[in-house]
Amino acid sequence: MGAAEVISFDEVRARQQWNSLRRQLHERFDQWLDTLEPQWHEPPATLTEITTTVWDLRQQLTGGLTEAIIQYAYEGERQRKQVSCPRCARVLKAQAHVGRTVETMVGPIELKRPYFYCRACRAGRYPLDDALGLVAGCKQLDMQQAAAKLVTEVPYDTAQSLFGDLTGMHFGSERMHTLTNQAGAGLTVVDIAPSRQEIERRIAEVAAGRFRRPVLVLGIDGAYVPTRPDSARQPCQGRRGKRAQRARWRGQWRDAKGFRFYLLDGERIVHVLSWHQVQNEEQLGEALKQVKEAGLIPEEQVRLCVVCDGAEWIWKHVQTLFPEARQVLDYYHCAQYLHRVAQAHYGASMQALEWVEATMTRLYLGKVGVVLGGLRRMQAQSDEAEKAIANCWDYLHEHRGRTAYQKLRRGGYPLGSGGIESSNKFICHVRLKRSGAWWYEVNSNPMLALRCAKYNGTLNQVFGRYQQRLRETSE
Ligand SMILES: [Zn+2]
Repeated sequence: MGAAEVISFDEVRARQQWNSLRRQLHERFDQWLDTLEPQWHEPPATLTEITTTVWDLRQQLTGGLTEAIIQYAYEGERQRKQVSCPRCARVLKAQAHVGRTVETMVGPIELKRPYFYCRACRAGRYPLDDALGLVAGCKQLDMQQAAAKLVTEVPYDTAQSLFGDLTGMHFGSERMHTLTNQAGAGLTVVDIAPSRQEIERRIAEVAAGRFRRPVLVLGIDGAYVPTRPDSARQPCQGRRGKRAQRARWRGQWRDAKGFRFYLLDGERIVHVLSWHQVQNEEQLGEALKQVKEAGLIPEEQVRLCVVCDGAEWIWKHVQTLFPEARQVLDYYHCAQYLHRVAQAHYGASMQALEWVEATMTRLYLGKVGVVLGGLRRMQAQSDEAEKAIANCWDYLHEHRGRTAYQKLRRGGYPLGSGGIESSNKFICHVRLKRSGAWWYEVNSNPMLALRCAKYNGTLNQVFGRYQQRLRETSE
């Protein structure tokens, strides 16, 4: 009280500037009302009628306001008289102003800006476009990002119609296709992985208030993805007046191998990192190695555990990269071997079921030695039974050290590889396995990489880097 209200000179200047921008925005709004007025024949009766009228015109409003803000904020660039050539540093003089309309999520925006041309370098440029971070083509980055988010969820045609319905703007499915492949091309596991800092944050959240370090599970598995050969690209020779022939190529189910790191928080799974690609064992091993070498996993803060079904190549990678990790043979996978034994030995009978259940219980209690002994004593009645018993014995014997299920349970380790199986489902199957969809490998891997990024929480970051690349190449 009593103190004079002092407004700094900067503030006065800022307010005047703001007032002047406000006036311009009001002017735009008035122009928009002029457009709205003639459409307002009768007072609309329902909410839907009102929203439909406003919806149809809203982009003229939001686009117009954005245009006014740009004009205001970039007055200097719009009036620019000269610029130095980025290549040869010669001073270039402004030529005529050139108009350009770009499409954005808030509507079309018209720009008029000076053009500069360097005769020596034979290159022209628009400094305003660079300052605004525009990319080549009409559709700007906010639209591209929205489209990319849609197509990582639904097929391209659906994405196109949803995009139209939800935004009132057209975005062609072909264009979306190209965009996704470009954004996802060449991504590695390190590109789509959360940072070590982010992973540590997730670990700390689960560890809070706990006595023991949390269990970090690494699951490794394959999922089948429908692919088509590259030869399917060649156009089929068709004859006029004849029905189109069935495609000559045959689809192929390829193995999308992947891994997932996730934390166990009681019954809950806290996702950390997924990586799925149509790839071979070596490539998967290489990707795991990249994770290890990038130091993304703070092994000292967790109890690392690897759970999988027993494929040799998986253990090989695990042993080399994470020798300290607790190894768990997927408990439920053992049931398959036991069922085969029971089927061959007892036939389809109650006894067979009882034997499987009793044996699974013994395994559950960590009595793999008893189970192995029992298998050894079984008197096979047929070649088939003998083979099944031998197979089962070999399997359990080989992985004996990975079957201490009782101890594992006490330690809070998982017995099954449900975590990787579910990520197979929500990353690969949900988007790639659709009726009639057969993927070229070159298309399926970028899509899988983007979907992994989405679940790893890095899609915005991945897209940001893609936009950066786009801007750099358009310069
Ligand atoms: Zn030049």
